[in-house]
Amino acid sequence: NRIQELMELDKKHFLHPTSPIKQQQDEGPSFIFTEGKGVHLQDMAGNTVIDGMSSLWNVNVGHGREELGKVAMEQMSKLAFSSCFATFSNEPAIRLAAKLAEIAPGDLSATFFTSGGSEANDTAYKLARHYWILKGQPNRRKIISRTKSYHGVAMGATNATGLKPFREFTNSFDPDFCYADHFSTQDLREVIEAEGPESIAAFIAEPVQGAGGLHVAPDGYFQEVRSICDEYGILFITDEVITGFGRTGKYFGIEHYGVVPDMMCFAKGVTSGYAQLGGVMISEKIHKDFTELSTGTLLHGYTYSGHPMACAVGLKNIDIIEQENLIKNAEVMGNEMLKGFKWIQGERRIVGKVKGLGLMGGIEIVKDQQTNERFQTSIAPMIVTEAAKRGLICRSVVFDSQDTLVFSPPLTINKEEMARLLEILNDAIAAIEAQVLK
Ligand code: PLP
Repeated sequence: NRIQELMELDKKHFLHPTSPIKQQQDEGPSFIFTEGKGVHLQDMAGNTVIDGMSSLWNVNVGHGREELGKVAMEQMSKLAFSSCFATFSNEPAIRLAAKLAEIAPGDLSATFFTSGGSEANDTAYKLARHYWILKGQPNRRKIISRTKSYHGVAMGATNATGLKPFREFTNSFDPDFCYADHFSTQDLREVIEAEGPESIAAFIAEPVQGAGGLHVAPDGYFQEVRSICDEYGILFITDEVITGFGRTGKYFGIEHYGVVPDMMCFAKGVTSGYAQLGGVMISEKIHKDFTELSTGTLLHGYTYSGHPMACAVGLKNIDIIEQENLIKNAEVMGNEMLKGFKWIQGERRIVGKVKGLGLMGGIEIVKDQQTNERFQTSIAPMIVTEAAKRGLICRSVVFDSQDTLVFSPPLTINKEEMARLLEILNDAIAAIEAQVLK
């Protein structure tokens, strides 16, 4: 039958991103998705599951939005593509850049477009280095990021990623990238001093670490980061690839801390995954310096920078987020999710710390709730498999000896859907708990 045929073709011809190669070869795909509506996905075999991850933290407005398809079709029929190199431009890219300036924190006001978050990160590091060349300080080339961070898989983004396995995969240990503890501003200061402040171009951080195990920085952390960066004259970049566009209950995650970065990377939620788009925003001050100091060409650009169809989809997507009050819903439903996690914590013996901000949430799995002792082997992946069988997609993080479940459902999720998500989750944890505490 067709499913079997696709399974075989998948195994033979499709090298999956971030996949367990051997398992994928042996078993083939666990779901071949065909349709989505709201928080739900359906596969070829007719199974319906709750997409508790918004797929890859990105389908913020939920699946099956015909209005986004319509905008894409209209734009593609009129002008599918034209270049934005040099002095060429197009209306959707111009209007999206202007809209981003309106919604972004502080004076972030000019956008360089990319096709995704990894490209956005590499772009930010390159713009930061170029900035210091223009300012007559070419030695400022180092990028400091944080332990447990994830910034993508382009060469720069890989090197900036604090999660070691991503760097080990390609032996990427560029000495121009260094790492400070993800929660300690004292450590950041020590890394700056040890490396030499005059060698550092920028510090980059996710307002809430997602792929690294859902770490919400303590109160005051980013305020202190901002002042340390100012003290040493280092550019502060936020990676809002996950936390942007309402995910945390504010437009951008850094708003929770009331500080403004010098540059900001975004992707994912800008189009809710309906088109491939990302970018970097720079402050008015940096933009002015670039304009005044540059005599040559900005020698960085992707064919798809400012793609008309992707930008048209981005504009409509932002319109939906605003019209449907999805940022407020993320805050309200985020509180509901955290409350639910606490309830599960009371019900289950293997649930340790629960955490979250808006619709980003995490649950740590422990052997002993009192001492926080971990199991010898990670349990979260077993729960993910069990939850999927029961109709819920979530994700596990096991890097750095963690054993954590993470969640980021679409911002459209309602009370009933959240209740169902929590119920399936509790059942799945209960089933695995019975196995491992036997
Ligand atoms: N930055 C962060 C914080 C991310 O979570 C991701 C992807 O998950 C990226 C960057 C990379 O984005 P992309 O996969 O679109 O290249």
